[in-house]
Parts: sequence; structure tokens; C-alpha cells
Amino acid sequence: MRLSQFHLRTTKETPADADVASQQLMLRAGMIRKLAVGLYTWSPLGLRVLRKVERIVREEMSAAGAIEMLMPSVQPRELWEETGRWEKFGGQLLKIKDRKDAWYCYGPTHEEVITDFARQELASYKQLPVNFFQIQTKFRDEIRPRFGVMRAREFLMKDAYSFHATDEDLGREYKNMYDTYGRIFTRLGLKFRAVFADTGAIGGSASHEFHVLADSGEDAIAFSTGSDYAANVELAEAVSPGERPAAAEAMRRVDTPTQKTCEDVAALMGITLARTVKSVAMMGTDPENNPRFVLALVRGDHVVNEIKLSKLPGMSEYRLATEAEIRDHLGASPGFLGPVNAARDIFVVADRSVAAMADFVVGANADGYHLAGVNFGRDLPEPALVADIRNAVEGDPSPDGHGTLGIARGIEVGHVFQLGRKYAEAMKCTVLDESGKAITPAMGCYGIGVSRIVAAAIEQNHDANGIIWPDAIAPWQVAVCVINPKNVDAVDEAAQSLYQDLQRAGIDAVLDDRGLRAGQMFADIELIGIPHRIVVSERGLQAGTYEYRHRRASEAEQLDRDAAIARVS
Ligand code: ATP
Ligand code: MG
Ligand code: MG
Ligand code: MG
Repeated sequence: MRLSQFHLRTTKETPADADVASQQLMLRAGMIRKLAVGLYTWSPLGLRVLRKVERIVREEMSAAGAIEMLMPSVQPRELWEETGRWEKFGGQLLKIKDRKDAWYCYGPTHEEVITDFARQELASYKQLPVNFFQIQTKFRDEIRPRFGVMRAREFLMKDAYSFHATDEDLGREYKNMYDTYGRIFTRLGLKFRAVFADTGAIGGSASHEFHVLADSGEDAIAFSTGSDYAANVELAEAVSPGERPAAAEAMRRVDTPTQKTCEDVAALMGITLARTVKSVAMMGTDPENNPRFVLALVRGDHVVNEIKLSKLPGMSEYRLATEAEIRDHLGASPGFLGPVNAARDIFVVADRSVAAMADFVVGANADGYHLAGVNFGRDLPEPALVADIRNAVEGDPSPDGHGTLGIARGIEVGHVFQLGRKYAEAMKCTVLDESGKAITPAMGCYGIGVSRIVAAAIEQNHDANGIIWPDAIAPWQVAVCVINPKNVDAVDEAAQSLYQDLQRAGIDAVLDDRGLRAGQMFADIELIGIPHRIVVSERGLQAGTYEYRHRRASEAEQLDRDAAIARVS
């Protein structure tokens, strides 16, 4: 590629509304442009990186035996009714209506569609096991889209779904995918960690997340310094004792006198939380500064929640908040800027008499009374006590008895689930076993945030001058920079021939033939993160040298042509 023929548009200024390094640098490098909240256009430069990530994911998935396909992003309501998720999925599901008044959603995930495919395509156990994957656009109406493509509303995901005759075979494929993810993130050149995870709205039994470690990560990861034990603190907060032993233990560890599980909250309130309730968070306002409100934020199955809330002691004090009150209140809570949907997010206010509840900061339910898929700092303002939790955990003995606990920040880039038969059963997907009997296949599902990875890689790899791409996903591995203010033909020719030889050697090279001043050119090449740079200049040619510099090196080196090429390959 010749840069003079490409579309590159960089800026020096840090954009005002970009909060993290990756978002700032992606905008400054001109990789993405914002179209609307959570919607981004990938420029030609950005797309080069996205495609490289995609390619590595695709190659490793294929090598692991998964088969690629492609499903529509728009999905009919009827399918989602079959699994009950049309209502249960909550506010992230973008519902749309066609001209005939038929409802659809823009797919946030594809369990329903793949299970529909499977029930038509799979007839016999002989077709199992099978693992289908796609790399496709998802839409989730995130309560708080932010950090550019890191938490976008429209984003690119690799999602895979496997089908098995037995649980054992599902376990085998789960391990296969777990190992494949390790290979993918290693090839991408990222520092990552696999952790125990909550299964959230997708459901199922076992689950692991893969996190890219970065201080800006929205998730807190508790990990052992003496073993492989690691868990998402979201999970540690999320799981009730007895549900999953390792997680319950982690939760005990992070419990502090001020933190209450929803069970505690429920006990104190004298209510039984419905198991069907999807997610409840009790948000207490500071009783001293604002004694009037206790705000309950209820998301998901609001019918049940309404009933439960009506059983609260002193319920006469409670009423549903008006939307204006909600907005007022949320406006006063820094960090909670998500759009309010009065139809699906219920907010309850109580007055002073129950303000004593203000310190039940955390509580939720679903199956184990837990806060499913809700994170502090992301979906809710981060209360001081979360920091307390982190401090309390750091240095504690690890739940598995090996080493002590540390806390790191992570960006969730992958997630593997053992779904079991939840979807296949709900959607009546069966195959015939050896004896001709209909059996319900066990399913697994495996997601990777392809577009999020681009941002996560930058969070891990940047400096004051810009991005520093791992070689595998750089828009180009090497930039051949031409410095030729006097337009000496020999300089252009030398640069061209070097560029061509690099290409021939299978190296993804770009020729910076824009005729810019050296300073301006180098600033661009550094900003957009090209890992290797070779400068061709008249002075160099006279001395028989090419100036080579790695993006991470402090000094450039004068090398002969072969040595310069050898550095890149
Ligand atoms: P998160 O906890 O960050 O909201 P999730 O657990 O809801 O993610 P999954 O349902 O596990 O996401 O989806 C698989 C992968 O898709 C995630 O691991 C993540 O890398 C990516 N992903 C999810 N939501 C977004 C988003 N809003 N923007 C970009 N990537 C996303
Ligand atoms: Mg998650
Ligand atoms: Mg999510
Ligand atoms: Mg997840």
C-alpha cells in the first residue's frame, strides 16, 4: 500500500469526549469515527486492524474444528418468545417493527437462531458433535455505551455454538474452545487471563471469561498469586453461597461488613426474592446528604419485581418513581448516564422512613439472588465500598489454598459457556440416538469481542506518542518512509524497491510516499502504531544505510539493506 493512495487522517488534539487511551488514540489515528451513541464507522485504517483480528480468530476456530457460517442480524420475535428471552433479555434487546407490524429484534447474540437452524439441520447423533461459528455484527442497547468500540452498541463478535450427544462431549469441546481461546489471544500478542465467570443473561452452568489485563478495564479480577485461580469480582459479588463453591468462596472473601448480598437485603426487608427476577440493584443515596430517597433499580422481569416490592415492610412509603424523578435522581448520580426506559426499568422511591436502608448498596437476585451482568462503574455508579472490597481482598489467602489474592483490572474479550440443554429443550431441538430415540443435544457457546479486542490491544500497548501494535494485528508491519525533499530519483527508486522486496518476502509493508516533512511523517507513523519503520533518505543512501527503528526502541539504527529487512521479518 502507498500512503499517498490511502485515506489517512490523523489529528494531534486529544478529542474532548474520549475517556480512555484506546478511544483517544483510535480517534486521533482516524481508525474510527462516531456516527451516534455507541455506533462507529471503521475507516480504511481501522478496518485493516479489525480484519487482522478477525482473521486470526477465524483461522484458529477453523483449525480447532469449528465450521463457519453466517446468520442474519435481524431476528423474529417468535424465536425469542420460544425461549422466553423476548421479555427476559431486558433493555439491551433492540426491538424493531416492520411495515406489517411484525416485531423483530436486532440480534444481541444468536442462541435462538442457531438452535432453530440446528433443529432443522440436525437429525441424527451421527451429525454430532458439531461446532458452528460466525463473525457477525451484534447490537446491544447498552445502558451505558462508552470507551468507543470497547462498549459500543453495534459491535463485531465471533460467536460459536456447539451441539453434543452427551454432557461429557460438551465438556471436551468446552476444553477445546478454552484452549483455542488461549491460542487466539497469544497469537494476537495480548497479555490475558482466563477467569471463572458469571453466566449472566446467556445462562448455563460452567463459564470462563478471557480478560485482557489493563488498568482501564471495567471488570475487577481476583486472582491467586500462587496458582491459576482467578475469578471475575462481578461473579464473586454475584453468586450466592452454595451455588458454585469456588465463586461462593470468592464472595465470602470479598464480603465486608458494609456489603450486603441480596439475600441479606431481602432478609432485612422481610421479603422473599422471586427466582424469576432477573436483576435488582438497591442503590442507596447518602442518607445525610439526601435522606429522601432510597432508589431501587429493577431491570428485567418487572412484573414480579412489582409484586415483591409491594411486600416490603412499610410499603405504604413506597411508590413507583415518575420518570422525571428518576432522571433527576440519576442526573445527580455521576456515572449513571444510561437512558431510562420506564417500560422496562422500574425505579422505586421511598422516603426517609426507609432511608436506613441506604447502606444496602448491593443486592440482587436471579437464580442465586445475584447481580447479573451489572457492574459498578459501568452500569451503576461505583460506590466507595467497592474500593473497600478490593482492598480487603488484596493479600488475602486465595480460596483454593494456594498463594494470596491480587486484584487486577480486566477487559472481557472472550467468554465460553456450557449452556447445557436450556435452548435445545425450549426450542424442541432433538436428534435421534443410536437406538432411534429422540434426544436433546447439549450445547456450548463461545464468544469473542472482535472489535473490542482492537481497543483492548491499544489499552495494553501504547505510549505518549500513540499506539504500539503487536505485529500480528498492526495495520502494516513496517512503514518505509521516504525523505526526499529534493526529489532525487534514486531515493524514490530505492524506497520503491525496498518496499517491493518486503512485500515479496510476505511482509505487510506500507510506503509513506506522501512527501511530508520527516517530523510530521514520523509522528503519524508512531501515532498509528506501525511496529517497524525504515527510513530511506539521500543521506542514508550515500552512506549505504537505511535507518531502522522499532516502535518501542529509544534509538534508531543505521543498517545496510539486508540487515534492515532482516529486522522486520
Ligand atoms: P460485558 O460484560 O463486557 O458487557 P458480556 O458478558 O455482556 O460483556 P458476552 O455476552 O459474553 O458479553 O459476549 C461475548 C463477547 O462480546 C464479550 O466477551 C465481549 O468481548 C464482547 N462484547 C460484549 N458486549 C460488547 C459491547 N457492548 N461492545 C463491544 N464488545 C462487546
Ligand atoms: Mg460480562
Ligand atoms: Mg454485557
Ligand atoms: Mg460475557
